[in-house]
Amino acid sequence: MIHVDLHTHTNHSHARDSVRQMFEAGQAKGFTIHGFSEHSPRPLGYDYPHEYREHLDATFEDYIREVEELKKEQAPKGVTVLLGMEVDWLEDEIPYIRKVTAAHEYDYLIAGIHFLGTWPTDAVPADWEAFPQEERYSRYERYYRTMKRMAETRIFNIVAHPDLIKIFTVDDFHAWLERPESMALVAEALTAVRDAGMAMEISSAGLRRPCREIYPGPKILHLARELGLPITFASDSHATEQVGWGFEELARYAASEGWKESVVFCRGTVQRVPF
Ligand SMILES: [Zn+2]
Ligand SMILES: [Zn+2]
Repeated sequence: MIHVDLHTHTNHSHARDSVRQMFEAGQAKGFTIHGFSEHSPRPLGYDYPHEYREHLDATFEDYIREVEELKKEQAPKGVTVLLGMEVDWLEDEIPYIRKVTAAHEYDYLIAGIHFLGTWPTDAVPADWEAFPQEERYSRYERYYRTMKRMAETRIFNIVAHPDLIKIFTVDDFHAWLERPESMALVAEALTAVRDAGMAMEISSAGLRRPCREIYPGPKILHLARELGLPITFASDSHATEQVGWGFEELARYAASEGWKESVVFCRGTVQRVPF
């Protein structure tokens, strides 16, 4: 059984529920470790159609304070609360990323690749529909090339949803993975993730999105095991009912490749948690 969720959001970004409500939802599931990973601030020009930047910027300090307070309150009870952040990886904005990640003392940092250049990859299905197959393939390639660059910065602890790029075109993505050169590119990215001391997230969010498949899919999961990557478990929850959602399935999925433990990062230390 999985007792830890390291990928949860709050109403300080575009999620529905508060820090306290998300925490309590995890407690109801028997979690001993609850990691908060609110979205990072983003520079202007990297925009979502449903933008929440203004609200996040206005309340981000409250997020930090509320999680820190909860952490202090829960420590004597033996429950670990972690302050994390899901940072938008933007390869042309590394100084900005260094600034936002250094602004607070985070227990861990997740890198989420939601943008290629300034284009949001997971927000507009119509963009993907308009792309011919070769264009889709070239975006998959770009996604794994930028993942490698992300890992090489050594800023982060975890790579989020490591095949999010399949979200609206899952069949084409699987066809692309059948090419040996595609798997070689994914292997290069995951090797960089491993060599940076990072873990790969296994996320139930994909099951709720149009791709209807865990992030990552079976082929990439198998490759990650071969490469010896540590894993974390993630719901990417944006509401209380999503905290720890689908975790029985994630546990079976990870165990099918031989993993017996996930890892938890806390300010430079790595803890192994059996599941
Ligand atoms: Zn979100
Ligand atoms: Zn997330």
